[in-house]
Amino acid sequence: MLLAKLFTTRDSGVSEPPFDSLNLAFHVGDDPAFVAVNRLKVAAPPIAFMNQVHGSTVVVVDSLSPQEPTADAMITQTKNLALAVMVADCIPLLLWDKALTTIAAVHVGRRGLVNGVALSTLNLMKELGAIDVCAEIGPSICGKCYEVGADIFDEVVSGHPSAASTTVIGTKALDLPRALENVLRAKSVEVSRSSQCTVENAHYFSYRRAPITGRQAGLIWLS
Ligand SMILES: [Zn+2]
Repeated sequence: MLLAKLFTTRDSGVSEPPFDSLNLAFHVGDDPAFVAVNRLKVAAPPIAFMNQVHGSTVVVVDSLSPQEPTADAMITQTKNLALAVMVADCIPLLLWDKALTTIAAVHVGRRGLVNGVALSTLNLMKELGAIDVCAEIGPSICGKCYEVGADIFDEVVSGHPSAASTTVIGTKALDLPRALENVLRAKSVEVSRSSQCTVENAHYFSYRRAPITGRQAGLIWLS
């Protein structure tokens, strides 16, 4: 069994501004014909997408279903089925076990960090037989760019002290990738983390930079 992982950027698609150009999401207002072409441009096996709602639902999939599941995490043990998590600042989290039996794609935003969707996914992977799980945290908003108000800061930091951060001008901010890395390391997961910030790097879609925008994706599959 071989493992493949891929993080798309906004480059090399057919969508027009403000979705230029490799927008993979139908729900953002882009022309569906462009989105369909863009999805076919991604060099991966058939791709399972999900209807993400910032919840903690984890689904196990073994084939493409006509209706995308409403969930924020998908797990599979099926070869040649790619799992996709769509983002524009939130964290695309990919998980796999060293034996390459079980993989997952997880959407982790601020609410996902608080509701524990990554740990729910990890626990279900283990129930399915995964041991020695590894993780990759893809490009997402960094701790200097995710400025928040005091209420949200307090809510998140009370459960995740390492999320506490500040912007370059010293206002309250959240470092979600750092907090998620610590959550996973505390469960003995081997973690690697992208250094790319989606707000600062214009090759990525960023909701913070422009609320009407497209979505990139993190993808993982076994072959
Ligand atoms: Zn940043």
